[in-house]
Amino acid sequence: MSSTQSIRTIKTTCPYCGVGCGVKATVSASGAVRIAGDEDHPSNFGRLCSKGSALADVLVPEGRLRMPQIGGQDVSWDAALHAVASRFKAVIAEHGPDATAFYVSGQLLTEDYYIANKLMKGYIGSANIDTNSRLCMASSVAGHKRAFGEDIVPGTYEDFDHADLVVLTGSNFAWCHPVLHQRLMAAKAARPELMIVAIDPRKTATTQQADMHLDLAPGSDVALFQGLLRWLSDNGHDDSGFIAGHTQGLSKALAACDDFSIAQVARRTQLPAHTLAQFYALFAKTEKTVTVYSQGVNQAADGTDRVGAIINCHLFTGRIGRPGMGPFSITGQPNAMGGREVGGLANQLACHMDLENPQHRATARAFWGAPHMPGKAGLKAVDLFDAVASGKVKAIWIMATNPVDSLPNADKVRRALETCETVVVSDVTTDTDTAKLADILLPAMAWGEKNGTVTNSERRISRQRRLKNATGEARADWDIMCDVARRMGWSEAFDFSSEVEIFREYAAMTAFDNDGSRGLDLSALADVTAEAYDALEPVQWPVVKGKAPGGRLFENGGFYTPSRRANFIVPAQAAAQPRTLDLPFTLNTGRIRDQWHSMTRTGLSATLSQHLAEPFVEIHPEDARQAGIKDASLAEISSRTGSVIVRALVTPRQRRGSVFVPMHWTDQFASNGRVDALVAPQTDPFSGQPALKSTAVYVQPYAAQWHGFAVLRHRPQSLPGRYWAIAPVHGGWRLECAGQGALGQSYEAFLEAIRQGQQPIRYDDAQGGQHRAAIFAGDTLAAALFFSKTLVGVSRQWASSLLDPDRDEMPSSLHILAGRAASDQTDQGAIVCACMNVGINTIRAAAGRASDVDSIGACTGAGTNCGSCRGEIKQILEDLRADKNAIQTAVGG
Ligand code: SF4
Repeated sequence: MSSTQSIRTIKTTCPYCGVGCGVKATVSASGAVRIAGDEDHPSNFGRLCSKGSALADVLVPEGRLRMPQIGGQDVSWDAALHAVASRFKAVIAEHGPDATAFYVSGQLLTEDYYIANKLMKGYIGSANIDTNSRLCMASSVAGHKRAFGEDIVPGTYEDFDHADLVVLTGSNFAWCHPVLHQRLMAAKAARPELMIVAIDPRKTATTQQADMHLDLAPGSDVALFQGLLRWLSDNGHDDSGFIAGHTQGLSKALAACDDFSIAQVARRTQLPAHTLAQFYALFAKTEKTVTVYSQGVNQAADGTDRVGAIINCHLFTGRIGRPGMGPFSITGQPNAMGGREVGGLANQLACHMDLENPQHRATARAFWGAPHMPGKAGLKAVDLFDAVASGKVKAIWIMATNPVDSLPNADKVRRALETCETVVVSDVTTDTDTAKLADILLPAMAWGEKNGTVTNSERRISRQRRLKNATGEARADWDIMCDVARRMGWSEAFDFSSEVEIFREYAAMTAFDNDGSRGLDLSALADVTAEAYDALEPVQWPVVKGKAPGGRLFENGGFYTPSRRANFIVPAQAAAQPRTLDLPFTLNTGRIRDQWHSMTRTGLSATLSQHLAEPFVEIHPEDARQAGIKDASLAEISSRTGSVIVRALVTPRQRRGSVFVPMHWTDQFASNGRVDALVAPQTDPFSGQPALKSTAVYVQPYAAQWHGFAVLRHRPQSLPGRYWAIAPVHGGWRLECAGQGALGQSYEAFLEAIRQGQQPIRYDDAQGGQHRAAIFAGDTLAAALFFSKTLVGVSRQWASSLLDPDRDEMPSSLHILAGRAASDQTDQGAIVCACMNVGINTIRAAAGRASDVDSIGACTGAGTNCGSCRGEIKQILEDLRADKNAIQTAVGG
């Protein structure tokens, strides 16, 4: 930390995705925080994406849980902790340890995670602790363990700089891991011969910037890589030395590829045979190949097999552990890797040991001095909440996550928690859909308040550091758990008073009984001092005394199977949930560029909410036509477990027969947008990871009889219509709503509810079905409402800007009611570049003098900061060119 008298600059780590970018936070004497990328951090070298750049926006007191609560009433910490300890003790005494459970999160720091595991697995004596990382990358964990014997990512981010071919499969890299994507695009700019292949059923910002896009049929990933293995074998691309020296099981794996000729793979993937041949030949001839996989691979009923099929191709060609090559799992969450390291999954012990391995159990028992140790794996996330629903689990403690929104069959999860005897939730926010169901609610420190470590996708451990004091009485998660453990009778084992003490114990455990049989080894940090921990620079593991830390693994074999050889895998063919006549679409779920998980943090940022302010469904134009759904209208999507109402985005980017809905919206931001209520609870048999991208659904129009749009200085208590979606804007909120029933009545009721005694300026055309109003509090606009029988034709960006406190001048009431800028004022349209605040109209206008993404950047600034929007800018330019060509053709014709 460097400091002057009044300003401190603190290095910390972004709390969002698994890239793990270093952040420099400059804290002024008044407590204001300025965020920049850390140029010295080897994971990002100063870059941040839009979410990371907006971190200061979310360091606000709004919505924070400040005091412990029991039954909705504020209580002292003493009372709350006593209640948690006594309820857990009572359930254990009456029903045994397996009647209790923890459900934790990749948002926790490694020190928190370590304590949670030690408490549940070593002291309570159950393995019923699972993490929301189960939803994110459990199939990669299982795939690594099957192939390598341990959950190890072999490569480093530097491999992107060295690779000649990068295959991105099941990864919308540009939106979900933007800084790594930018690193890849920088490598491409420096070496245009670097080829990028994107494998995705959908056209995305990532496929847009790739050299080749394989838009394979959903669920055909294993077939694609089985075909690749067969093609590599048929054409003599094996690394026979690596295979003979460091692997086993090849003959069975090759036999399993017999039915995967190019013609057969073409049928399964619905890709043209010549495209497949082109991809296979490119892979074969390019030694320096990195294959990146993420949630599109993991979140499938055959996710572990997909991982195995990818790794097979790298083992076969010996492309692992050397510069610019290797299979590379990129995690979704900031500390998914740290959680894996300390045993965050129900089937693991800490330090990459296995619960079902008696030797490992003995090691952990001895190290912890554990009085109780489960003999078998605990319940994985979906099964765990089933056990809550059936009453087998009677006390659950949920930490830093929101399963009522994120687990499949989410309505069932909600019902399960409603009926559970004891639900403890520790979180930073009062008002999540899960926190609302807590019997005991514990305020936890948020990012910027807590201290500890996280591990990113390349095995790099970085510090998260405190920037400011805790909000209210919030405490660190590890501290809360230690206090409960002490009250349950285990004072000595949980006598920690700081993060470094926990980290030291964890590092020592990685070395305990580790004769080289486990790759995760932090022994050189086992006696780290408090000062050294405070100053800890990002470090990649293994960190062993006398050796340079980190680096690539497995170049010369040394896998962690009993034979020290890597296993080739024989994938089975798992069927996705079949589409049926009544459920004819496959639902794919995923992320958008500027939101994170269930929006408890990013949803606070007006900057981040500008990009996409409503839940939506992407649907192909032909499918939309057949379903009677128009662009920008509302669609109702239903499955066997639930339904949502979302805005229709009709686009040829979406594959026919499939629809895409983002995962982020909760009851705090939309009336019916919780997409996981639709998702079937189908899981991968090895990893237990839910298939979040292949639910059979039905899509139909939502027949709204009225539509509304409003900008509001304050968020109203209740919102109108069966459909509403609300998002922050600078200086207030923007609201979309729609419903059935009489337009005029709905409008008047809402106007009455929000006008708070002010006299609105109105425009009403009852016959034409138009009602508009502007409400002023003194000279300040308090609200503007636009209700209509049809979709509301108002410039959202312009109307939202009316609330902006930095706005120079307020347009006339006439223009406000007209809903658009006067001809001498600018309306930049929907924001494309959140970092530089550039809208689509500005980009379109600049396209007259700029023909590519870089020159648009030079003219407008768009795409010049984090670069996550470059794919969209490219698409806008292509759409404009296509329109121009169409006009010329029409005129010429
Ligand atoms: Fe944070 Fe963005 Fe970096 Fe991910 S890519 S760690 S979200 S700044």
